[in-house]
Amino acid sequence: MPEGLEAEIYRRSADHVVARRVARVEVDDHQAMAAELVRELPGRTVEATRRRGKHVLLDLDDGRSLALHFGMTGRLIVDGVSAIDRLEYASGRDDPAWNRLVVTFDDATTLRVNDPRRWAVFTLDPDLARLGPDFLTLDVDDLVVRLGRRRAAVKTILLDQSVVAGFGNMCVDEVLWQSGISPAAPANSLDRARLEAFVAACGEHLPAMLERGGSHTGTLDPEARSAVPPCPRDGAPMRRDTIGGRTTIWCPVHQTG
Ligand SMILES: [Zn+2]
Repeated sequence: MPEGLEAEIYRRSADHVVARRVARVEVDDHQAMAAELVRELPGRTVEATRRRGKHVLLDLDDGRSLALHFGMTGRLIVDGVSAIDRLEYASGRDDPAWNRLVVTFDDATTLRVNDPRRWAVFTLDPDLARLGPDFLTLDVDDLVVRLGRRRAAVKTILLDQSVVAGFGNMCVDEVLWQSGISPAAPANSLDRARLEAFVAACGEHLPAMLERGGSHTGTLDPEARSAVPPCPRDGAPMRRDTIGGRTTIWCPVHQTG
């Protein structure tokens, strides 16, 4: 599924539509804001792109912003090209019936969201205050406060987009593995030194995964998640457990609580 890294890859491809003016918009009528998008977007020019967590934002010349959230299987296709050919666990097919948003610009170019499962969400002027700080720019002091209040498993808390925005299942498993933190550790049991290690691992590994192509390029890649090999760090048998309702791959030897 598109995690924050995939959203960043989509944001970069959305940069191609900066300075283009919207001519018309087609939106899946299941979208809550369908009528508003069709009414408000034509005539607007895209001035910039941003990302917050798993949301890609197109800033418009009237001061408003269009937020794209890609759900489980949504792909952004700009000028007929998807920056990501195939999402893990999703179809790579680009069926026109799955177009949930089609923005056509004055020069007849397009930006589309193609989503087989129909869980993508498009919002004009999203409330970003409900999202936590972005996972690519975490601050240790902030994380100490945010996790210090929470007793649930740290993995569950990190996947809560109101605590930290951007983590999906693969990235959070990867960074917890890299920083030696058990995904089941109570969030408020981790001292500052361990959260510093976590933030350092985010800073080292997430940008590297981004440049390699996304959240499936970590040490715990889909092949490892499927085969559950011995831990590449210490050779111990790794485990596949369900934590917070999500399949979790981890090493009970070097990942401690
Ligand atoms: Zn290990």
